Amino acid sequence: MNSCETAELLKEAKDNILFNTVRPDIVMEKGRGMYLWDTEGKKYLDFVGGWAVNCLGHSPEVISKALERQAAELVNASPSFYNRPMIEFAKLLTDNSCFDRVFFTSTGAEANEGAIKLARKYGAKNLNGAYEIITTINSFHGRTLATMAATGKKHWESLFAPKVPGFKHVPFNDMASMKAAVNSSTCAIMLEPIQGEGGVNAAEEGYIKELRKLCDERGILLIFDEVQTGIGRTGKLFAYEHFGIEPDIMTLAKGIGGGFPLSAMLTKEKYNIFEASDQGGTYCGQPLAMAVGLAVVSEVIKTNIPQKAEEQGRLIMEGLNNLAEKFNLKNIRGKGLLIAFDLSEEKGPEIVRECLEEGLLINSPKPSTIRLMPPLIVSEEEIVIMLQILGKVLEKVL
Ligand SMILES: *Cc1c(COP(=O)(O)O)cnc(C)c1O
Repeated sequence: MNSCETAELLKEAKDNILFNTVRPDIVMEKGRGMYLWDTEGKKYLDFVGGWAVNCLGHSPEVISKALERQAAELVNASPSFYNRPMIEFAKLLTDNSCFDRVFFTSTGAEANEGAIKLARKYGAKNLNGAYEIITTINSFHGRTLATMAATGKKHWESLFAPKVPGFKHVPFNDMASMKAAVNSSTCAIMLEPIQGEGGVNAAEEGYIKELRKLCDERGILLIFDEVQTGIGRTGKLFAYEHFGIEPDIMTLAKGIGGGFPLSAMLTKEKYNIFEASDQGGTYCGQPLAMAVGLAVVSEVIKTNIPQKAEEQGRLIMEGLNNLAEKFNLKNIRGKGLLIAFDLSEEKGPEIVRECLEEGLLINSPKPSTIRLMPPLIVSEEEIVIMLQILGKVLEKVL
């Protein structure tokens, strides 16, 4: 495509698409492995990975084959019937986790809505109507009205008022505040084991163990939002495995579909308490999504992707540590391939822009933080290229 055609496309984008975010003047057209190409044929090394989504890289054969096979067989039967990939996929997830039951849906926010409803149902039935859920400051749980209320973002507090009631926010990794917040109205505590959008802040092991104990003592649920940390991202199939505890509910999205819209809420048999039509949706267990999820997660397990994520994550950390002194990079942190560092100035957005120019995609969740969340198939060679470009850009901007 020539630049005139791209300019025409961009004009149509600006004339027809509802504005919701600032996007660069680029139209993405093709993806393979670790790379994306725009309509001008420019190539980008992708360390954002479709927002921590494309765990097996761009357009992997595993996904196209599963889609082709399933589309020829059954695209949609209706949510009122079981289908084969749904059954096989649920079994794969329960066989490979501490959970017994799976509810499928399409996005992370919907999976979290399911978790919130299930906790409230348990509160209504077993805890004298307790409905409040304690979440943490700096957390991110989604963009539906309830998950926005659950999210601990300051500037969302007054957005789209009135806010869904029933959520209380406390500082992350602060046990005293959590203990003070729990009372007879509380039905659950919900958190990300590593806050992703908040800038890659890991929960301390002691904190998680104490949360588990507190929930057991009070008879309330511990909910892990593993939308970003699940499916190998942190070096284990699920991040809860790092902490030596089991949550009562876990939500998954992003990596679980490798790019296809898919999410899941997993729980234990004890909480298999929804009554008919309490929860559902047209696309719950949609066969195409189920076939893709089954293929993606099978591949992740079969090829031991979590261990690779851990090894490659270590290489990236080493590389960043080598750049740290020269560019005054601070708090290089993360687990597996969910990595971030802080800058001494608020130059994140400028660094992201310059990297884009140089053909590298990275993310800045906060003005002074850079985050890397590449596909889990990233190779050593691609890590070297990323570090070279990043070094060059840091040299220029700082
Ligand atoms: C991305 C994300 C969500 C929301 O997922 P959507 O698919 O955008 O609805 C929820 N929780 C966490 C931890 C996330 O990273």
